[in-house]
Amino acid sequence: MFGDRSHHHIENDPEYSGLNVNQGVEPLPPVSEDSVKRFLKNKKRRQLSVQQYVDGILIGDITILSQAVTLIESSKPAHQETAQEIIVKCLPFSGNSVRIGITGVPGVGKSTFIEAMGKYITSQGKKLAVLAIDPSSGKTKGSILGDKTRMEDLSIDPNAYIRPSPSAGSLGGVARKTRETIVLCEAAGFDPIFIETVGVGQSETAVHSMVDFFLLLMLAGAGDELQGIKRGIMEMADAIAINKADGNNIEKAGLARIQYSNALHLFPATESGWKPRVLTCSAQMKTGIVEIWKTINEYFGHVKNNGYFQHRRNEQAKFWMYETINEHLRNKFYQNEHIKTLMEESEKKVLKAEISSFVAAKKLLDFYDQIRKINTL
Ligand code: GDP
Repeated sequence: MFGDRSHHHIENDPEYSGLNVNQGVEPLPPVSEDSVKRFLKNKKRRQLSVQQYVDGILIGDITILSQAVTLIESSKPAHQETAQEIIVKCLPFSGNSVRIGITGVPGVGKSTFIEAMGKYITSQGKKLAVLAIDPSSGKTKGSILGDKTRMEDLSIDPNAYIRPSPSAGSLGGVARKTRETIVLCEAAGFDPIFIETVGVGQSETAVHSMVDFFLLLMLAGAGDELQGIKRGIMEMADAIAINKADGNNIEKAGLARIQYSNALHLFPATESGWKPRVLTCSAQMKTGIVEIWKTINEYFGHVKNNGYFQHRRNEQAKFWMYETINEHLRNKFYQNEHIKTLMEESEKKVLKAEISSFVAAKKLLDFYDQIRKINTL
């Protein structure tokens, strides 16, 4: 018969709550001696139970955390199911980190910057997770972002966890997986969490919808067009850092800083009441890094104080609920074999102006409704 009812979609489950990001409990409850023992005893077994995954994550075991993230990324329904159960159990321990988005065109120095700032952060006794959203990774197999070889020191730092972009699926799907990975990283005690993305497309919007602070890296001397940065992305930025402010470039960077500051003044006031700043840095020489970190912390002081921090998290939680529904409905529709066939025919008719786009769309949607009715008989 029609349809794909045999597939179990976990998001459809009324009990599915993988999208709620709780405010979390503060401070994190100490891990009980029992759970550590249970975890160590079970670690050697290959097939872990949900509870074993959760125990492993809660004591910060990076191997177990990675395995759980692999489940999140898997498209196998059984893996998805286990992943969702793990997420639900980790949710009460999540929500306490600061989530920072970092974007900029390839070559601007994102990985060098993340390495420099990351090492500074871990030297302060903090645990940092670096995740990535690379919309092109489906084709390039994640070679652009989050590549461990690009962050040599950080990747061997026991207090850092680096995870490349999930590689399969639409941007929406990739973004959802990253958002779920944030939950597990937070439960594992990582704070802050960096989400890196390449500053050329829609991926910033996806990252913006899951972070608390957005940092845009830019270069001096290259025009905005050259840097592929759209005004909309500048408007999303809570801070801009002009990187490669070293050697002969220091003066130009200072000038660019003034120009961008002036440009930002022309933008409408932000909802958070925060005035975005422009700073300069050299990721390579490790200068200006501490100042940027201080600015980020100042921002958090500001938005936690005026309530915007929680407001934005709530908005994001709502957004992700709808995003997941949309993604799910879209997939069901477009992956339906009958729709696929009909779609091709309709497209041809539209191109030949035999029917209008709207009539074609309406017919397809009506047909889909009928399929669903037949399936539920
Ligand atoms: P990404 O593509 O944005 O991740 O950029 P990378 O971090 O890979 O850096 C691209 C190139 O710029 C590399 O050759 C880096 O060594 C260089 N680079 C990064 N940061 C700096 C910096 O602060 N100063 C200078 N002079 N070069 C830098």
